[in-house]
Amino acid sequence: MTFRATVLTLYPEMFPGALGLSLAGRALERGDWTLDTVQIRDFGLGRHRAVDDTPAGGGAGMVLRADVLGAAIDHAAPADDPRPRLLMSPRGRPLTQAKVRALASGPGAVIVCGRFEGVDQRVIEGRGLEEVSIGDYILSGGEPAALVLLDAVVRLLPGVMGNEASGGEESFENGLLEHPHYTRPPEWEGRAIPEVLMSGNHARIAAWRREQAERLTGERRPDLIRK
Ligand code: SAH
Repeated sequence: MTFRATVLTLYPEMFPGALGLSLAGRALERGDWTLDTVQIRDFGLGRHRAVDDTPAGGGAGMVLRADVLGAAIDHAAPADDPRPRLLMSPRGRPLTQAKVRALASGPGAVIVCGRFEGVDQRVIEGRGLEEVSIGDYILSGGEPAALVLLDAVVRLLPGVMGNEASGGEESFENGLLEHPHYTRPPEWEGRAIPEVLMSGNHARIAAWRREQAERLTGERRPDLIRK
């Protein structure tokens, strides 16, 4: 099954962007996944193809109109389209590796990129958009967030990572941050690789890595330990 991504945006030129290169780019060329963009402005109103308007109740900025965005969504994903409909949004549930995995095992995603102050609440409700955040900071638009989400999903698709499929050992996969890595040379600027990693003793190495992962997680992300 091919993972199908459709991105609704005012800046389709931002895609595939970084996803056209490296692992994701090669997977796209092979057809392991597909990416379409829908220009929201094509559904804009009047001679100027207006997509936004001033916020009801007053205040700064502009809001993406429900009628315009609704028409764009209906074009991109008819009611019987099985793909989840996501809205990139700082108010959304934070994206996690578990969510990324769930998306990667599904048929794809329809991803709406907000701009300005955001989108009219009625289209979120009326089209069943699930809000997803990539972190507690504000971007100028949903496009970089959509690129982040798709990058994380695409690398999990069957065949994409090839030999690098270290999947289950990655940070977050087991609720811990990953242990530190080392490679050649054995000594650099007076710093040696920890002796245990050179010992060839796989049980000791596994125990050391586990210990390091637990220490790092405790120091940096006690919230992960609590979970
Ligand atoms: N006024 C809004 C922010 C709008 S930012 C608020 O305070 O909540 C404009 C658009 O950028 C949003 O509609 C969303 O699509 C995107 N965006 C900004 N920050 C994001 C984040 N952390 N995660 C996902 N999308 C984000």
